Amino acid sequence: MSDGQFITVEGIRKTYRVGGSNVNALDGLDMTLAKGEMCTLMGPSGSGKTTLLNMLGGLDVPDEGSVRIGKVELTRLSEGQRAAFRRGNVGFIFQFFNLIPSLTALENVLVPVMFDSRDMSDRARELLERVGLSNREGHLPGELSGGERQRVAIARALINDPSLILADEPTGNIDSETAREIVSLFKELNSEGKTLILATHDRLVASRSGRSLRMRDGRLVRGGPQKRAPAGDSG
Ligand code: ADP
Ligand code: MG
Repeated sequence: MSDGQFITVEGIRKTYRVGGSNVNALDGLDMTLAKGEMCTLMGPSGSGKTTLLNMLGGLDVPDEGSVRIGKVELTRLSEGQRAAFRRGNVGFIFQFFNLIPSLTALENVLVPVMFDSRDMSDRARELLERVGLSNREGHLPGELSGGERQRVAIARALINDPSLILADEPTGNIDSETAREIVSLFKELNSEGKTLILATHDRLVASRSGRSLRMRDGRLVRGGPQKRAPAGDSG
């Protein structure tokens, strides 16, 4: 894959029908992103950030428009093909961590590969070590702090070495000190060449990413403040 445009979104619309009226969660949104960018997505609650992340990760498809990741047009894939694309290429991180309460930290990291024939437990251990949790692999989520849970979720997102990481308010439920550490981890992943898109309300997160996009009413706001990292900063 070349280093140029990595994500191309054109004219995507998503309308939800709620109690007899229509909600335009995405209203003809366009966006492009280069490989290796770290970008935040800001905007008020209800502006469509989560819906957009779901489209970029192939969790859902738009009613209209196109979503291209690398050479793959996601809207042309079947549901099964999209699931396979997602497993191989995308890591998701959520606000509420979405860990399985009855599984240990290590087992949670292994969830995306539980149907693989390969034994990935060594890799899962390495990832837990990488996020600073090697001494917590046998802990259940209920025995971990919010920041630790989010780090388990990040390790889980990395298990298949995705090129694209999508995080939905990843620091929304952790204290600001821990948030700082999580952002440093994201920066590190970005410096290794991963492309990251982080939906956030957190100015700290936005200030440390190369680019900040703002959403309103299902579109990107044009001409909003955009901070670009100095050339060469991302690699
Ligand atoms: P954000 O993440 O920026 O808060 P969302 O993408 O979650 O925004 O939501 C955008 C709009 O779409 C909101 O008005 C929300 O209520 C609506 N919406 C999102 N998901 C659904 C759904 N599954 N069913 C109905 N409406 C939805
Ligand atoms: Mg949201």
